[in-house]
Amino acid sequence: REKRCIRNALAKAITRDGHEIEVATNLRNFEEAELALAYGAEGVGLFRTEFLYMNRQEPPGEEEQFLIYRDVLLALKDKPVIVRTLDIGGDKHLPYLEQDKEDNPFLGLRGIRLCLKHKNLFKTQLKALLRASSYGNLKLMFPMVTTLEEIRQAKTLLEEAREELQVAGIETSINIPIGIMIEVPAAALMADILASEVDFFSIGTNDLTQYTLAVDRDNEKVAVLYDAYHPAVLKFIYQVVDAAHRKGKWVGLCGELGGDSLAAPLLVGLGLDEISMSPVFIPAMKERIRALSYEEGRELVRRLLELPGAKEVREVLVKTS
Ligand code: PEP
Ligand code: MG
Repeated sequence: REKRCIRNALAKAITRDGHEIEVATNLRNFEEAELALAYGAEGVGLFRTEFLYMNRQEPPGEEEQFLIYRDVLLALKDKPVIVRTLDIGGDKHLPYLEQDKEDNPFLGLRGIRLCLKHKNLFKTQLKALLRASSYGNLKLMFPMVTTLEEIRQAKTLLEEAREELQVAGIETSINIPIGIMIEVPAAALMADILASEVDFFSIGTNDLTQYTLAVDRDNEKVAVLYDAYHPAVLKFIYQVVDAAHRKGKWVGLCGELGGDSLAAPLLVGLGLDEISMSPVFIPAMKERIRALSYEEGRELVRRLLELPGAKEVREVLVKTS
């Protein structure tokens, strides 16, 4: 029985009508990689690298980071590994960074904004990643992107990092796919434009929900209003997938919604190419997807997008599960 479970976990997630959706893992460090593979992860959809920077007195250096990224890539063999560059700010602080107190930190110097300001910190990470790139199937992803200009600036810094490595005699993979997280409403609305500047998107439903509904994701007083099943959020996801696919770009989803098996028919019907979640949710999600039909999922999504609120969306999903 145990063997059957393991075989099932490793098998792909293909719907009854033959539609495949890649099931990947979110992780924070090298140790979680082995665990995720045992649970059936087909890749890493989100490596939250900020955890390498936290709870210490100085940032991790290039060599230290290189070794970690290399080991994760080696552990995943040829499976894709999406590494998100440092996503600090908001509620996450680094004692060694000069971060002025902000009145609205979640609307402040966060994610890519902070990295574009602290260029050396960012470049050290980019160099470590470029060096690791020849050890596996690496993809790079920038967080909290709002504008086209931010993507261009980040790519310029990536090229600078590459040139500096080259001068030092270190060659790197030339074709590393570059993606962005879609977690700001403006980015979701501009997805068609942003798609032409990147190779892929990954939708961050945690922040997309927070910013779409204007509800702090960590504030208990408004927690009842925080719901990724709100049709406003679903409309954004629908629109982002559509915009990406029109431009021939790949689109995944890596917020908490991705690990919720109640959402399975919705995620399939939205046409996502990949969903990424904590390792423990992978087996149940794959099992659910295999029992679903893509065509029915499409139909269901059309219905859900017409509903007035998150409550009604959940009710329909509970009935269909
Ligand atoms: C998200 O915002 O949905 C996401 C995956 O990123 P994080 O939870 O790390 O902000
Ligand atoms: Mg986020």
